[in-house]
Amino acid sequence: MVVIKTFKYRCYPTKEQKRLLAKHFGSKRFVYNYFLNERKSLYLESKETLNYYDNAKSLTALKKDEQYEWLNEINSQTLQAALRDLDTAYNRFFRKQARFPCFKAKHNNQLFRVPQFIKYENGELKIPKFKQPIKVNEDRPLTGKILFATLSKKPSGKYFVSITVETEHTPYAPTDKEVGVDLGIKDLVICSDGTKYSNIKTTNTNKKQLIYEQRQLSKKIKGSNSRWRQRVKVARVHERISNIRHNHLHQTSSSIVRENQTICMETLTVVNMMKNHCLAKAIADASWGELLRQIKYKSEWNERTFIQVDRFFPSSKTCNKCKYIKSDLTLKDREWVCPSCFVELDRDVNAAENILEQGLKIYNSVLGTKSESVAHRATLRKQNKQKREEAFSLEKSTSHETQESLALG
Ligand SMILES: [Zn+2]
Repeated sequence: MVVIKTFKYRCYPTKEQKRLLAKHFGSKRFVYNYFLNERKSLYLESKETLNYYDNAKSLTALKKDEQYEWLNEINSQTLQAALRDLDTAYNRFFRKQARFPCFKAKHNNQLFRVPQFIKYENGELKIPKFKQPIKVNEDRPLTGKILFATLSKKPSGKYFVSITVETEHTPYAPTDKEVGVDLGIKDLVICSDGTKYSNIKTTNTNKKQLIYEQRQLSKKIKGSNSRWRQRVKVARVHERISNIRHNHLHQTSSSIVRENQTICMETLTVVNMMKNHCLAKAIADASWGELLRQIKYKSEWNERTFIQVDRFFPSSKTCNKCKYIKSDLTLKDREWVCPSCFVELDRDVNAAENILEQGLKIYNSVLGTKSESVAHRATLRKQNKQKREEAFSLEKSTSHETQESLALG
């Protein structure tokens, strides 16, 4: 199966390359903001709208202006990509999928895309405008046809390249297991077969270090050099913790997809509806969304059937043996005995079993008219196409994409 994957590697630019990278980050942001401003003011003046081609034409003219001569040092395709992002942001706004585009600030936008002419070999990355290749730490081999690359600088001061490729993926061996998956806080995942995956607990050492470094930061004088250095230290601890979390989520989602052929899960809105009174929600929220996303695309890649249950039903409160609903069940009740059929139930496993049952019911009713393989293949094709479009259109998405290999350390 052909899939689109992103490999993320740490890179080690030279001093000179860092300077040119900084120019690329800055110019890309400048172009984005400049044309956002132009679009906004024209609209206010005359209610006219500009599109990508209008902007691209103006950009060519702008580069001939002495004042903006420095734009010529930048890979022109990178700047055009910024215009495309702006166009995408507008379109998403018009389609009511996103808020109105806003100006990009330096602190959250140290990245740019290289759409074409990328050469990568033996840990050396060649991109337009860079005379020497950039050194890359290839911690796992890059395979496939390169589509585009995104270079970024993190608040920790580290540089990364994400290379998106089209590559052949060998699916996991088929199994006949069906599973319902419930998301939780104490355990991140509870499967209907009783398997539980813990929520990542970043070690105390990391937590202590974060608190220590943050306290140091608060003592520094605003605007001072030492404060700036301390911010980098705090960012590094954050980065380490987020890497641990990210790897843990990947291990969890891979394991669930590897071991099961059919996977039923609730949509996030349903999960939230049921658990929103919980304090740890905010923390769990991010993990849930990411985990769901990973299980979804890994199911596609491995020819698994992924079913989402999006109708609200009391999955925790319903006895999965006799369907009795125990309406006075509280969050504290981890185990309960069904007053109707007297079976002993583990709260979370019972919920997962209900999700599985509900999911299979939905799946079978959908399949009522179509044959399984036809329906499955059609959705796969549609999803793949959508993925590809998304991958191209939104640079922002690179931070959410499949980053199975993270340069740790
Ligand atoms: Zn019962």
